[in-house]
Amino acid sequence: MIKVRHLKKVFRTPGGDELTVLRDINCDIEKGEVVSIIGPSGTGKSTLLRCLNRLEEPTSGVIEVDGTDILDRRTDISLIRRRMGMVFQNFNLFEHLTILDNLTLCPMTLLGKSREEAEKRGMELLGMVGLHDKAGCLPGELSGGQKQRAAIARCLAMEPEIILFDEPTSALDPTMVSEVLAVIRHLANQGMTMCIVSHEMQFVRDVSTRILFLNEGIVYEEGTPEQIFENPQKPVTRAFINRIRTVESILENRHFDLYGLFGKIHTFCGKYGLGTKVSDKVEHITEEMLCGIMPFCGPVKLTIEYSEKTSGLTLTFRQENATTTILDNTDEDSLSLMMVRGMSTSVTEPETGTVCVEI
Ligand code: ADP
Ligand code: MG
Repeated sequence: MIKVRHLKKVFRTPGGDELTVLRDINCDIEKGEVVSIIGPSGTGKSTLLRCLNRLEEPTSGVIEVDGTDILDRRTDISLIRRRMGMVFQNFNLFEHLTILDNLTLCPMTLLGKSREEAEKRGMELLGMVGLHDKAGCLPGELSGGQKQRAAIARCLAMEPEIILFDEPTSALDPTMVSEVLAVIRHLANQGMTMCIVSHEMQFVRDVSTRILFLNEGIVYEEGTPEQIFENPQKPVTRAFINRIRTVESILENRHFDLYGLFGKIHTFCGKYGLGTKVSDKVEHITEEMLCGIMPFCGPVKLTIEYSEKTSGLTLTFRQENATTTILDNTDEDSLSLMMVRGMSTSVTEPETGTVCVEI
């Protein structure tokens, strides 16, 4: 239904510099699919959605909707937009119109429906999103979750063939997220074609037929929810999915700055709310590993990874120029090794010279 090839979007910043947000986007959305777009903020997810219905003018590339090139000057973009509904983060309801009037205005003016027809359909749609009794209210009288459900109903009133959702729940109070997601889920079950930008990972996983991970201006990785969530192929995707935070230090030799390193660990743990107990443990393990176990036959690289999803912490000590395995060559009676083992859930050496300690 939608075909995107080599889409590029360059913004000009106020300072006059060029900012390439979308470098080379290629993707397809077929009828009946629910395609979710995920990725770090600022990677151009909104820009991509806005390019799809030309709210944003692409710099170059091809976007076809059912074979029609929408970037062609001769294409009537308002006709294309009518087929593509868009739901925004901030609802964009007409504040001075009642909820029902919000739903009937465009069908009457743009689709040429009679008031009776438009109101009948409007009430059906309000019923579907659970707002039948709010028809006469102004948007200001509704909660955020209700406003967003009304915005979805308004979008449906235009009988779109596809709906683009741009972070539909990110402006909502957490207690109202699920009512909006439930409506979107219902549409998915009915076979509505949708493209959803969202940070609600569990929802994205449940509802999507396909997921695009956007990063560095390209579709960095794409696949089914299982592929993206269970078995992401690229480290950046994996880190995003598991929300892995890392900090790295290179210790050149034995005389490294231990207290400087402790400070860095303390800051890292504080930033992710890990508390002083965890931070003390990480420092203790680091000291035993670096002062009692690592041979320092070259620099040692320490990487600390924290997964916000699993709450797991992994400390990796990588010995450059390692010639022999470290753990096998450490005395089983080594006090340092016993202490590290005692404070962690596992100590392994997946490859020669690299010791992983999991907490
Ligand atoms: P996302 O939705 O993934 O968070 P956006 O598409 O909103 O990302 O923005 C991507 C980048 O493009 C950001 O760095 C943003 O500042 C920049 N950007 C977005 N719109 C404009 C604009 N109209 N002019 C200049 N820069 C913009
Ligand atoms: Mg955005």
